[in-house]
Amino acid sequence: MEFEGIVIRLTPFRDHDAMVTVLSSDKIRSFLARGALKYESKSGPSVNIYTKSRFQLMRGKEGYALRNGEILDSFQNIKTNIDCLAVEDFLGELTNKLIQSDDAPEIYPFLEKSLTLLDKGFSPFTVALIYFAKVLMVSGYSLNVDSCQICGKKDQIVALSYKDGGFICRDCFSPLKHAKWDVNKLKMIRYIFKVDVDNFNKVDFPKEDCLVLINELSKFIDDIAQLNLKSIELLKKI
Ligand SMILES: [Zn+2]
Repeated sequence: MEFEGIVIRLTPFRDHDAMVTVLSSDKIRSFLARGALKYESKSGPSVNIYTKSRFQLMRGKEGYALRNGEILDSFQNIKTNIDCLAVEDFLGELTNKLIQSDDAPEIYPFLEKSLTLLDKGFSPFTVALIYFAKVLMVSGYSLNVDSCQICGKKDQIVALSYKDGGFICRDCFSPLKHAKWDVNKLKMIRYIFKVDVDNFNKVDFPKEDCLVLINELSKFIDDIAQLNLKSIELLKKI
């Protein structure tokens, strides 16, 4: 079997072996890579975390095992920048905790694009925020950024309520339950949920604005799915 994809998890196993999990454009696959953790391993570099490679597997007694791996893109520049490394870690945690094999066709282009943009030096916090929104959408935790979540009206939107799950219009706004959002913040959250993979790098948001929304979305996912994203702490420190 031959396929290409991005390594999203590498778990050491026995002495120098590793279990490798790869996200591809069709599904998620796991396989054993014998000797991958040995210094002189030929295919070892192809299973490094967040590397895009082409893999050849063979079927063995313990399931699929790596026969050969060839690096397509190691996104080497990411490794030289601390902000990018922290974002890469965040993308990985989101993918591992929220993405199921069935979601692979939808999310794969966004992970590939995110790593490519980070590697090219595009704003790491914008990448983190947009990928976060895409993972929420694909995994079924989206927010309604098209119309008022209560009455369905498309204009006079004044807030977004995480508790209600989307936009709130002027008529449905209740000062006891909701807090008003400024227009730019409303535009920004709509943009990150709506933007497609080709236009991903059209807008570069300020780091502080990105961190505010990343924080809010992480509280939202913690409330709704009891999911605590550990890598956010590192993002806040840089
Ligand atoms: Zn309304």
